[in-house]
Amino acid sequence: MDKKYIIAFDQGTTSTRTILFNQLGEIVAIAQKELTQYYPKSGWVEHNPIEIYEDQKKTFDEVIKKANINPREIAGIGITNQRETTVIWEKDSGKPIYNAIVWLDNRTTEICDELKNKKLEKYINETTGLVIDSYFSATKIKWILDNVAGAREQANAGKLLFGTIDSWLIYKFSKEKNHVTDHTNASRTLCYDIKNLKWDSKILKALDIPKTMMPKVQLSSSYFGTVDYNGIETPIFGVAGDQQASLFGHGGFETGMAKNTYGTGCFMLLNTGDKFIKSKNGLLTTLTASTENTPINYALEGSIFIGGVSIQWLRDKLKIITSAKETEQICNAIPALTDLYFVPAFAGLGAPHWHTKAKGSIYGLTLDIGREQIIKATVEALAYQTKDVLNAMVSDSNQPLKELKVDGGASANNYLMQFQSDILKITVERPKMLEITALGVAFLAGLKAGIWTKKDISKIKKIDKKFMPLMEVHESDKKYEGWQKAVQRTKQDF
Ligand code: ADP
Repeated sequence: MDKKYIIAFDQGTTSTRTILFNQLGEIVAIAQKELTQYYPKSGWVEHNPIEIYEDQKKTFDEVIKKANINPREIAGIGITNQRETTVIWEKDSGKPIYNAIVWLDNRTTEICDELKNKKLEKYINETTGLVIDSYFSATKIKWILDNVAGAREQANAGKLLFGTIDSWLIYKFSKEKNHVTDHTNASRTLCYDIKNLKWDSKILKALDIPKTMMPKVQLSSSYFGTVDYNGIETPIFGVAGDQQASLFGHGGFETGMAKNTYGTGCFMLLNTGDKFIKSKNGLLTTLTASTENTPINYALEGSIFIGGVSIQWLRDKLKIITSAKETEQICNAIPALTDLYFVPAFAGLGAPHWHTKAKGSIYGLTLDIGREQIIKATVEALAYQTKDVLNAMVSDSNQPLKELKVDGGASANNYLMQFQSDILKITVERPKMLEITALGVAFLAGLKAGIWTKKDISKIKKIDKKFMPLMEVHESDKKYEGWQKAVQRTKQDF
């Protein structure tokens, strides 16, 4: 029987989904379940790992029934997941000893301070490419071992396993009960040496984490285990954390390719090839999805805390719009702004400014400014912030950027995308396929399954629209200078 489909498990922070792709990279069927969020204390966020597994199983089943295909036609499964979220389970029973601690959870700031007091900042940055932060997995592992009764003894006796969500799902789904992960997920744990590709003994020791808990790390496009679906066996052939899967889905496996996802926040990655570049601008260095032909590539990663959420703020707090979508028409309906800038530093200023105490500000108010202008300035701020991070990437990597690939909810806004191209003075390319993250991991699985080559991937990718710079260069420069002045003024402690 022809193997002509690929399944993608897309396990995100708010939902668990399964998507069935055909050989043309088109979606045949999709099923989704919302994921329950637990907030036991302020700043704490947890998920139930059993719910995640059960939902993944249910959506898998639903998709096969919806598509009405023979499961024998599935060539392979890919898994893409929320990164950094931490699960610890018993090796023998497979039972989690605590809920999954979600990446957003900041309960481990004290453990992070201890690492800083041990003067490990430079070492950890140079080894893992990351900065010490509660966001990453390692301090969450320590928290569970320190706080769950008996956990430390069990861990020392080799009876506990750690995994990010991909590892957890592979362990639960594979008939071999494999304990494995891929390079992209390992590179977000804060204890993986991304130069020598091994778990780092010094960091594990500083956190008192036994190495026996850590999964084996493999190529993102490789064999991870076999799933038994009603007696029919299907291999897991691809695994990648969500942002790296999205980069791969955009075809970003070549040096110099960059993508930006415009969601609640924005996540930007630039593939810098086989060079580990240490950022001078507070960006992270991380591993891209690895394949047999291109085993190890690095990326610079920068995130913008306040992306599309500032549009939600216009809707929910200022109540000057009723939907995010209407911002496009409003932006197009009024003339270009002059000297009006909204710096949405609601959560301080992130990369490359790093001024955590800054607060949001609007500059350039005059009596003719009204609702529409404030809306337009809010939309434009997404483009300016993106340029700030991209400039940092270009300066760190010493390579000019020719094109930016985009996805995410706010990339649907044509005004924003045109303005982005004008301000960056490069092409902005938006794909037709909105499920680029799931498609990315489907590509990784399809490569290993032998149904696609990297060349096919470039052909399968369909472009929705390319935005070319239309604004006069001096106008674009003037606007960006104005933004930079506004950011300088925002760098104040309140
Ligand atoms: P996430 O995956 O982070 O939940 P999405 O990729 O679904 O986010 O994007 C949702 C975000 O995009 C919201 O913050 C919303 O305000 C913003 N957004 C959605 N559509 C538009 C639009 N047409 N113009 C501007 N912002 C938009």
